[in-house]
Amino acid sequence: MRVAVVTVGDELLAGETVDTNASWLGEQLTARGVTVERVVTLPDREADIARVVNEYRAEYDAVVVTGGLGPTHDDLTMAGIAAAFGVPLERNEEALSWLEAEGGYTREDLAEGTAELPKGGRPLHNDVGVAPGCVVGSVYVLPGVPAEMKAMFDAIRAEFEGTVLHVESIVVAEPESALVERFAQVREEFDVTLGSYPGENVSVRFRGADPEEVRAAAAWLAERSETVEE
Ligand code: AMP
Ligand code: MG
Repeated sequence: MRVAVVTVGDELLAGETVDTNASWLGEQLTARGVTVERVVTLPDREADIARVVNEYRAEYDAVVVTGGLGPTHDDLTMAGIAAAFGVPLERNEEALSWLEAEGGYTREDLAEGTAELPKGGRPLHNDVGVAPGCVVGSVYVLPGVPAEMKAMFDAIRAEFEGTVLHVESIVVAEPESALVERFAQVREEFDVTLGSYPGENVSVRFRGADPEEVRAAAAWLAERSETVEE
């Protein structure tokens, strides 16, 4: 399964808020064997959200969107999703009933627009906050508040699955440039993908579907390199 993650918020683009939702979702989806092919951050702008979500839902098996839910002027994500599907926003009765029954709100308490979802969408309940999320086709819309996003993702986690890759890492205390030839040999001899992440040392990560093959590739390089403990 190939997925795109879209995070929405002017504050993310300005660097005022760190996009922890994208990294958390990347980790969670990868752990389920899903390949995250795109992470993109968009401004709070309806047309941009509609355009990018339409592009990505055509390209990937699912799109996970976070942020921009709620009743304030800068919460434009649901409008963007509705526009992407060419449907109106409408009060979602199921979401409202859940907020009354489980959330302890009366309809009068809820700000105008709180439970407005794209017509035909499946509401996702918010156990931690107020704003409901929703699923429209292959597009999953979650809140921006990290605790709310995580709780909502937990409820839909099972809808994401793929082949879980085995990962092994070694740390090499040599310049990255010195490893080029050995990397080429690993890639020729083993059915793994290889990532090289330089910092003070070079962290080398091996990924593949067969754990034995991944372990063998890591051992092969470790034997021929100056490794250090992480
Ligand atoms: P929103 O859903 O856009 O109303 O955002 C609600 C809160 O969650 C705000 O404080 C945001 O800054 C924060 N937030 C939104 N998106 C993210 C994200 N991708 N990572 C971390 N925090 C976020
Ligand atoms: Mg926002």
